[in-house]
Amino acid sequence: MTAARLTIDLDALARNYAALRDMAGCEAAPAIKADGYGVGGLEAGLRLWREGARSFHVARLTEGEALRGALGDRAAVIYVLDGPTPGTGDRLRAAALTPVINSLEQAAGWDGPAAIHVDTGMNRLGLTLAQAQALTGRPDVTLVMSHLACAGQPEHPMNAVQLARFREARALFPAAPASLASSGGIFLGRDYAFDQVRPGISLFGGGPHDRPHERITAVATLEAAILQVRTVPAGETIGYGGAFTAERDLTVAILAAGYADGVPWTSHPRGAVWFEGARRRMLGRISMDMIAVDVTGCATARPGEMAQIFGPNLPVEGAATAAGTTAYELLTRLSTRAERRYIGAP
Ligand SMILES: *Cc1c(COP(=O)(O)O)cnc(C)c1O
Repeated sequence: MTAARLTIDLDALARNYAALRDMAGCEAAPAIKADGYGVGGLEAGLRLWREGARSFHVARLTEGEALRGALGDRAAVIYVLDGPTPGTGDRLRAAALTPVINSLEQAAGWDGPAAIHVDTGMNRLGLTLAQAQALTGRPDVTLVMSHLACAGQPEHPMNAVQLARFREARALFPAAPASLASSGGIFLGRDYAFDQVRPGISLFGGGPHDRPHERITAVATLEAAILQVRTVPAGETIGYGGAFTAERDLTVAILAAGYADGVPWTSHPRGAVWFEGARRRMLGRISMDMIAVDVTGCATARPGEMAQIFGPNLPVEGAATAAGTTAYELLTRLSTRAERRYIGAP
């Protein structure tokens, strides 16, 4: 019996990529940091190359090296968002990675092709507009980029502020392609698209606007098998801390997945799974290896049957919201214990 299973649908990834590229109407350069949002950065990278992606964004040098290793001699541009951090120049060059310059210090320490990151209001990484002015004469600027702080909230006034600032920034580097939008930015409209968009979460079936979108389908499905079905009489409690009390006699299935498989501990008390065509509430605290769910009235509840924790019937945002977190964190915290299987070729 498979205990917990993570199914990754690379055909769905390809469809999401096509949908996002259509919406943006420009180049779409996947952001596949953190092992491709937990689903496999190398599998995702290879498949997206086949779907036409020619530029990629990763966060770390090590992620860039791994992706370069997987893509071999394919002519992909791999941007490293951390930039040329101290002591990494030789490794960036050896793997033919293109760093993103985030500060004047980084600019001074790197003389090859690079992207310029101008901060337009997020105050995380990036040069100020005034600092960027000092770099306008620099050769080999392959991209001018910025990042939106509130793209997941279309009504947020910060979006328009950052758009206006980015127009000033890109004017400093008229020969370089420009990139502002991550997934959320793509859904803000084509004003935000410029020459290249950088989708991450929506490639992998999330959001963007803190809820699913009709053109984005699930890529990752987490399921767990029933280990045991039991009757819990009214008044008895379930699990650690006795945190849930049965309000009436319940039929309870114990599933073989817990927080060690990536089901957040905070899924109690609002979490649910999908079983026999409906949502079934989680009961009591999430254990390391198990969850209890209410299957009262379900005819097919027996050991070995699988329940969906998130996937096509239970979007990852909903599962994340119930746990007080985001689809980003849920996906990037998936553990390696669940058995992995891929649908579609990398
Ligand atoms: C993570 C990241 C992205 C992708 O963002 P999503 O919200 O996942 O689409 C794009 N650009 C930068 C700079 C990032 O850090």
